[in-house]
Amino acid sequence: MEPMRIECIAIGTELLTTRRLDTNSVWLAERLAELGLGLSLKTAVGDSREDLAEVFRAALDRSDLILTTGGLGPTFDDFTKEVFAELLGVPLREDAPSRADILAFYEARKRVPPPANFKQALIPAGAEALRNQVGTAPGVFWEDPPGHPGTRILMFPGVPREMKRMWEEHALPRLRAQGGRPVHTLRMVVGGVPESTLDQRTQELRERHGQLEWTILASLTQVELLARGDDPAALDRARADFEPLLGADLACVGQGNLEEAVLDRLKARGETLAVAESMTGGLLASRLTAVPGASAAFLGGATVYSAQAKRALLGLDGPLLATEGTVSEATSRRLAEAVQGRLGATWGLAVTGNAGPGAEGDAPVGTVHLALAGPGGTETHTFQVPGDRNEVQLRSAARALDLLRRAVEARSR
Ligand code: AMP
Ligand code: MG
Repeated sequence: MEPMRIECIAIGTELLTTRRLDTNSVWLAERLAELGLGLSLKTAVGDSREDLAEVFRAALDRSDLILTTGGLGPTFDDFTKEVFAELLGVPLREDAPSRADILAFYEARKRVPPPANFKQALIPAGAEALRNQVGTAPGVFWEDPPGHPGTRILMFPGVPREMKRMWEEHALPRLRAQGGRPVHTLRMVVGGVPESTLDQRTQELRERHGQLEWTILASLTQVELLARGDDPAALDRARADFEPLLGADLACVGQGNLEEAVLDRLKARGETLAVAESMTGGLLASRLTAVPGASAAFLGGATVYSAQAKRALLGLDGPLLATEGTVSEATSRRLAEAVQGRLGATWGLAVTGNAGPGAEGDAPVGTVHLALAGPGGTETHTFQVPGDRNEVQLRSAARALDLLRRAVEARSR
């Protein structure tokens, strides 16, 4: 399968400085991914005619779909359309509906449009104007520009809100309708398995399903195994083969993440969860409550960061805490059982550990003690996780969620 080559060009001198971050291309990449498409290349370029011409020329030669954002405004430094028109040897023509839109935009605000604003209604001959419902600069959709049959150019305004609206209203329907082969994606989310292990374990089966395009995508919180292809039946066959191979490591298939998988399973069983967090400082609760409808299974918990909080909020015994240490399996166990008991939850999940940067007592940086109190008793696990403070916290929260997911699943079997 020859994948469509797509590139994004973010235009604006401010994007080359520390003043503004190019968020448009990140957003567009996310939308493309939803269509099973991906960027081959992205560029940020300043408001210079010469640089734009160079980048556009290269893009026309190498890409099937060119997405640009920015440079559609009325000011002296906006010339995305002019440069494309010049390169492709066509004149700019005024688009009457766009002119009317600009007039209406100003009339609605009881203002007279400055003459320069009508420059925005100029569209390269042969291209189509895309209406802007939230601003004055129309976008452009240009299919098969002169000398480049099969190429499509989409020009969006730089203002993120305007670009997003234009994508939803105009670009998405056109890409769907004219995308040719729609690309389908199989997404499998795996918990608690390092990327390299997953790579090894799945290599043979990925090769057997070699007509699909495979990607392993690791983040701090989960690992995704992605397959793309134009035949849905091939993806179904891959899924049927991978499910038994991944077994209990497979958290979910399709959309979703670790926390959604956990909450879904708890809800299905009518069970509840409470958390006691020391080292993760509320991260677990935050990730769980980011899921709409979490309250059906997640009762809440306590951020018991200090020994004082562990005593006052969850009734841990002070002298015992001192002998066992605030970062220990024994303390995690007591916290899990206390929060489970106090909230009357099916499951109590607790985390203590040392996220760094300095050692804490005799616990080296990256030490994490998890405890899960459940209907069948309490289990504890100690891990060593890599990374800086933030990474240790994120990874620990992910390990905790995955521990719970496995325990709930094991009871379902
Ligand atoms: P323009 O269409 O070039 O006049 O840009 C209009 C506004 O959108 C300016 O405030 C830009 O800083 C902002 N903007 C332009 N491009 C981007 C981008 N790629 N990501 C985020 N903001 C942008
Ligand atoms: Mg600009």
